[in-house]
Amino acid sequence: MIDLRKYTKELLKLFSTSENILLICHINPDGDAIGSQLALYHYLKAQGINVDMMTPNYLQDFLKWMPGAELISIFIRERKKCRMLIEKADLIIMLDFNHPNRLGEAESLVVESNAKKVVIDHHLDPVNFADLIISIPSKCSTSELVYELVCEIHDSQFITRPYAESIYVGIVTDTGNFEYGSYTSRTLRIVAELLETGIEKEKILNLIYNNYSSDRIRLQGYALNKRMVVMPEFKTAYIYLSKDDLKEYNHVKGDTEGFVNIPLSIKGISFTTLFIEKDGFIKLSFRSKGKFPSNEFASQYFSGGGHLNASGGEYSDTLVNTIDYFKKVLKENVWRFED
Ligand code: 5GP
Ligand code: MN
Repeated sequence: MIDLRKYTKELLKLFSTSENILLICHINPDGDAIGSQLALYHYLKAQGINVDMMTPNYLQDFLKWMPGAELISIFIRERKKCRMLIEKADLIIMLDFNHPNRLGEAESLVVESNAKKVVIDHHLDPVNFADLIISIPSKCSTSELVYELVCEIHDSQFITRPYAESIYVGIVTDTGNFEYGSYTSRTLRIVAELLETGIEKEKILNLIYNNYSSDRIRLQGYALNKRMVVMPEFKTAYIYLSKDDLKEYNHVKGDTEGFVNIPLSIKGISFTTLFIEKDGFIKLSFRSKGKFPSNEFASQYFSGGGHLNASGGEYSDTLVNTIDYFKKVLKENVWRFED
């Protein structure tokens, strides 16, 4: 088991010497970003600490029901308030990311603020931009890491309903509802403790997973039927969606979430990519099974990064050229696949 005491001692010192704590999660927040942020918020609030929350941009609909989500200030919508929160903070805790560029338009304000800075995260290769970096890539989610830190800090077990729900959402979403290999026996023990608080797991799972629009489901069908290319010789499958495709299906933010995982269930496929056409660039998502380092591929060729098996990046060219380039560099990396 990882010894977190060296971190919690420092965290406690920072908590006790700070008047105003600001929690920030990454741009395009996912369930783990919001889950870990809300969980830490509920914990600190229960200790009587002044704490605020901010995110660089909007929450997706499937996270808006979460307890306390309405208290998160959104930088691109409430710039003045967020600027004030950043200026007021003497401690900024950043959750679920490890590179300042994930702060979006708030990057320079946060990086240049005089507040002490802490990173709590589980991605590989953290950039050194904080006073304390708690980076544990073996954790399936930042939410699990927050749970462990609070267990270590708090004398008796701390558990409240909103706290338990927040941790649960973070763990469930970052493990793909326990589908990816990233969770451990410890994760399941934590989940057992969360369920013992009486949280309504079925209701939560429905809010997360069974909340799609019909357009979204039709877009998924179209993507798999018309826009998926399987390259068995490279153990690879990819899906591409143009701006016109997205428009045709009344795409809203978050609709393509999860598409990249689907071709991984094809026999013999160990690497998948999703290309989404944006204004002036292509956003890529990568997923892999086994040892293929999707994050190294992302950082080497697509200015991105992430985890071994789940990563992303971008490329400033047309969809056609990006796919051509992808195929070229994929060929150069085929040796990285296991037999
Ligand atoms: P998704 O494909 O779900 O958008 O992203 C999967 C993971 O890849 C995220 O958890 C994040 O760590 C990483 N990721 C996605 N896009 C980028 C990117 O543009 N840059 C970096 N450094 N990481 C990314
Ligand atoms: Mn995460």
